[in-house]
Amino acid sequence: MKILLANPRGFCAGVYMAIDVVDQLLELCEGKPIFVYHEIVHNRHVVQRFRNRGVAFVESIDEIPAGSIVVFSAHGVSPAVRAEARAKNLTSIDATCPLVMKVHAEAIRFAKRGWQILLVGHREHQEVVGTQGEAPDSIQVVEKPSDIARLSIIDPDKLIYLTQTTLSMDDANVVISALKKAFPNLHEPPSSDICYATTNRQIAVRTIAPEADLVLVVGSKNSSNSVRLTEISQNDGTPARLIDDASEIDPAWFEGVKTVLLTSGASAPEDLVFGVIETLITRFGGEVEQRDVFDERVEFGLPGTLKELMRAKGIDPDSRRIRIDREADTTEWLERKHIPNRTVQVSIRETDNLL
Ligand code: SF4
Repeated sequence: MKILLANPRGFCAGVYMAIDVVDQLLELCEGKPIFVYHEIVHNRHVVQRFRNRGVAFVESIDEIPAGSIVVFSAHGVSPAVRAEARAKNLTSIDATCPLVMKVHAEAIRFAKRGWQILLVGHREHQEVVGTQGEAPDSIQVVEKPSDIARLSIIDPDKLIYLTQTTLSMDDANVVISALKKAFPNLHEPPSSDICYATTNRQIAVRTIAPEADLVLVVGSKNSSNSVRLTEISQNDGTPARLIDDASEIDPAWFEGVKTVLLTSGASAPEDLVFGVIETLITRFGGEVEQRDVFDERVEFGLPGTLKELMRAKGIDPDSRRIRIDREADTTEWLERKHIPNRTVQVSIRETDNLL
């Protein structure tokens, strides 16, 4: 079997940062309880691993004893949640991804100008709940074109759309086109809200999937960007399965399958991808071909509140940077496991219509 390994895949800069925040706190707080509001990132394994180390995940600030430490997840929270945390005298460490914060800032800016905001995204998703909470009277969520009829618009000339960061470009464009048709003067966000990591992983899947008989996406069912990767492949005609880890692989999927594209969502740890490779190679034999579509070098610094805590303990936050070098790590692991492998650079022509 040939395994095509998509690059980029897996952890994005926002997820690295959010996980790093909880990691650093576990060391800093030495046994003091740490509470995380909502799953730190949408991955079952990441959450369980932190639970095993004593971290408590809560869905309400009420569940946290006064004076404790709370981490806000990568998806962001509304100002109401921040205020609740302040009222309980919690030490809040904000692990919201800076790219989510950018959407919050846009919402606040346009709401202050008296504009109405149409937020394209999934109503129940934590990120959308947080963004809407920044200006609840000015923001209406649009999930699908049929929602447009129910919108209440005061001035169609003072109307802008923003989007959730992890949507599929295809799905978003369907809704945005319908919105533009209904409101021809609808303004666009200053820059795309769908983040670089979502876009890059989607382009990689769309580029490589036509060569594969099956696509495996490692990620949890509540991970928006992982689900979108699966849908993109399926919509383009290559069957795809979303799995949390190798234990969910069903041998029945592989009848007649010679080439598998393996990728992972932005919140899925790389060791789970390695587990899938090992399972496939053990069962079917074969080789791995790493397909480099984009070279991602984005990194986000730790939140200021955490840096302050670190300095108070005599730790220089800049000396504790996470290392991102996925290709080198993957090659080293493949070599160590004696799995035949090579790396192929994929060039995307600017004219390719991949989105
Ligand atoms: S998927 Fe994008 S917006 Fe979400 S945490 Fe990662 S970089 Fe940030």
